[in-house]
Amino acid sequence: MIQDIIKPMIDSALIEQARELIDKHQKFVVVTHMSPDGDALGSSLAMAGYLQKKGKDAKVVFCDTPGENLHFIPGWEEGLIYDNQNDGSVSRKAEAQKLIAETEVIVCTDFNVLSRTAALAEEIKKSSAPRLLLDHHLGPNTEEFSVVISHPEAVAACELVYRFILQMGDDALLDKTIATRIFCGLLTDTGMLSFNCSQDQIFLIVARLMQEGVENEKIRKEMLLEHERRARLKGYVLQNKMQLNYDLKYGYISLNKAELKRFNHQKGDSEGFVNMPLDLYGIQVTAFFREEKNIIKVSLRSKGEFPVNLLAEKFFNGGGHRNAAGGEFLGSLQQAEALFIKAMPLFAQYLDK
Ligand code: 5GP
Ligand code: MN
Repeated sequence: MIQDIIKPMIDSALIEQARELIDKHQKFVVVTHMSPDGDALGSSLAMAGYLQKKGKDAKVVFCDTPGENLHFIPGWEEGLIYDNQNDGSVSRKAEAQKLIAETEVIVCTDFNVLSRTAALAEEIKKSSAPRLLLDHHLGPNTEEFSVVISHPEAVAACELVYRFILQMGDDALLDKTIATRIFCGLLTDTGMLSFNCSQDQIFLIVARLMQEGVENEKIRKEMLLEHERRARLKGYVLQNKMQLNYDLKYGYISLNKAELKRFNHQKGDSEGFVNMPLDLYGIQVTAFFREEKNIIKVSLRSKGEFPVNLLAEKFFNGGGHRNAAGGEFLGSLQQAEALFIKAMPLFAQYLDK
């Protein structure tokens, strides 16, 4: 029995609270964080798919347009885009507003504070519908949610979605579409099952997903596909933009507006760039700074014990996990870089010798 090999993670009292919300209501809206990644898309769509299978009206509302690199996730286009930020995609703001205003339950996946849903947070706050959270980030703002299922030890929000379905006693409702969505999230947040996977549980979950016909090789290929645009930007970055400090074991990359324009940067094109310096011998911490309209978007990554979430909290008005965090900076790109360079010596004690 699947229940015998995949050990329960979620507290049974929370499962019962969630069950009551689900049993009592018909209308559900599922939301996830802005600039969604594979885990955000996978977890929100999988939850909606699961609720639909239970006979509920469930719709996903995206804060903004999911990047083109995620359009292979089955059913992503079923989600309503709240704010297309004039990127040419179909914005369904009025419809999304109405759905949220009328919904009976709001399900939140892969984020820990409502502000991670950008302008959508205002719509969510206007609604009195209870909010069910399924998330794996540290430090959820518990006051913002009615039922808080928060497990930082889960490798992905999608791991929690599968565990939730299982612990609800609904493993039989899994199908290829839902399983594929969950698989995409697991692959995203574990670097294709290469990190945070040192125990058997994730592989047991993956095996269960594959029983539904998830196409492992096809999905992996889709995830690795990229546009020429991105490949050329990557080449430029590796050649010209990677700054390294071997004494303090860090690297960083920054891209200004002019560079982004020159390479016709589209949403998602620089996804993962932050990880590139980490592939070098002797580098343990990396940062990526991208100049946006009014802010500098900051991404941080590390290996081992180095807590980039603390760095993000202290200096970049953000947060995240120990090895993957991010935030924002108000000021110039140069100022953001300078702050990072100044902050690194203060965190030197966390570096592996
Ligand atoms: P990314 O670098 O991929 O944008 O984000 C990595 C992780 O850092 C996210 O999963 C999230 O936990 C955290 N993160 C990124 N940006 C922010 C932010 O602006 N605020 C907070 N609190 N966390 C962030
Ligand atoms: Mn995630």
